This record gives sequence, C-alpha cells and structure tokens, in this order.
Amino acid sequence: MPSMYQVYALRYATTAPDRPRRENFMPGMDLHEGPMPLDYYIWVIRGPDLEVVVDTGFGHAQAAARGRTLLATPAQMLTRLGMDAATVRTVVLTHLHYDHAGTLGDFPAAQFHIQDAEMAYATGRPMCHACLSAPFHVEDVVDAVRLVHGGRMTFHDGDSEIVPGITLHRIGGHTNGLQVVRVMTKRGPLVLASDAFHFTENRTRRAPFPLVYSVGDMLEGYRKCEALAGGDPDLLIPGHDPEVARRWPSLSEGEPNILRLDLAPVAK
Ligand SMILES: [Zn+2]
Ligand SMILES: [Zn+2]
Repeated sequence: MPSMYQVYALRYATTAPDRPRRENFMPGMDLHEGPMPLDYYIWVIRGPDLEVVVDTGFGHAQAAARGRTLLATPAQMLTRLGMDAATVRTVVLTHLHYDHAGTLGDFPAAQFHIQDAEMAYATGRPMCHACLSAPFHVEDVVDAVRLVHGGRMTFHDGDSEIVPGITLHRIGGHTNGLQVVRVMTKRGPLVLASDAFHFTENRTRRAPFPLVYSVGDMLEGYRKCEALAGGDPDLLIPGHDPEVARRWPSLSEGEPNILRLDLAPVAK
C-alpha cells in the first residue's frame, strides 16, 4: 500500500487586483487586455508521521520592496495549519527566487532539498545579467549558501525520491534548476508545479510566462509535468494561479487561503 498524503496550498500574498494580462505571457502570445493578478503560495505535504514544507515564500521586507500584498508571513500561515516553522524538519526549495526561498531563518531545524543546477545557477555566471538576477534576493541566496556550508542542504540531480510517495523532478526552464514535487494522494499523483507554469493558461496554450531562462526547457516542462500527473489536469497545480484558491476546497470557512489539494476541485 503506497503512502497517501494530504496536500495543502497556503496563499500568503497577492498582486491583486492590478496586474496586466500581457505581463504573464511572452510578447505576442496574448493580445487581450485586462487584469490577471498573481497569487503567492507555499505548500505543505502531510502524512502519518511526516510533514514536508515546499518553499518558504517571502516576508514583509520583500513584499514592501516589490510592491506585493502580504496576507501573512509563511510562518504565520503554517501556524494556522497547526504547525511551527521552527520545528519543521524537511523543506523542499523548488528554486531560489525571492518568492520561494525567503524567510529561510524561520526554519532553523530544517534540512533543505534543492537541485544541483539551481544552486549553480543562483550563484554563477547567469546572475551577471540583471534580467535573470532580478527575481532573486541576494540575501536569500547568501542564506542558502550558509545552509550548504552548515550541512543543511541536500542536493538532487534530476529525479529522486525523498520519502516513499514524494519525488522531486528537475524541470529547468524558468530557472536552470527549477524542480517540481510529485506527491501520491488518494486521487492520484499530484504535481506541485511551482513556476514550471505560473498559470494553467501558460501550460494549456503553450504560452510561456516571460520570466524564463530556457524557453525550450519550459515548453518541454509542460509536457513532463503532464506526464507526471498521468494526464489528469486536476492533478496539476500551477505556482501562482488564483484559480487554486477559487477551485479547491478550503480547510474551513474561516480559512479561505488554505486549500486542500488532495481533494478534488469543487469549481470548474
Ligand atoms: Zn520563480
Ligand atoms: Zn514564483
């Protein structure tokens, strides 16, 4: 009997209401006008004796610096799920962008999991280019280097299983070492795609989000994620799409920003 996990999306920040649609697709890939806000999530995987946090979001300083609306810090969101960031043992970092790898200091007991290619990318030659380095906050990258030297970073190269039923898969594309997480749930293998596709529409129309290191790898990544989810679109969780909070059931009426992804969506 394979392990079956509960999976939660924690919506901690947003750009709503105002972000133009054209900023979410490569030039020429969308001719419509209108708002298309981004939401920001971290994710939690829960099993009988196990809790895994996927990404660590950002805090007040980066929210202010980049004009985002912080609804709660990632650590505060975890508290609302009955967890304490200070005692979390396992954190997967999908990549090191500011909105996925901030607040690392809030997880002092954790071992972190990252792709070789992501650490090389975030500390190497590509960062000489402002358009590639802009989504990184250098202090987060330095914190990640400290984790490496402190023995708290576990490296992966390609596909690997961290515990039975939870696997990591390098996609690249958006950053060179972006990885997605595949989790066994009662309704099938769920793929936390992070920024492999920000919006479902990026994937379904093969219209990449414009923040990209390799367009070819990003396009191949759509196919790889679809295969990992066994072809079921409801098992593919986009990284920044407000549809997650709209479609999936919330933890309770009072917690509209905590979504149960292991359950089937309740809206189209
Ligand atoms: Zn990113
Ligand atoms: Zn992101």
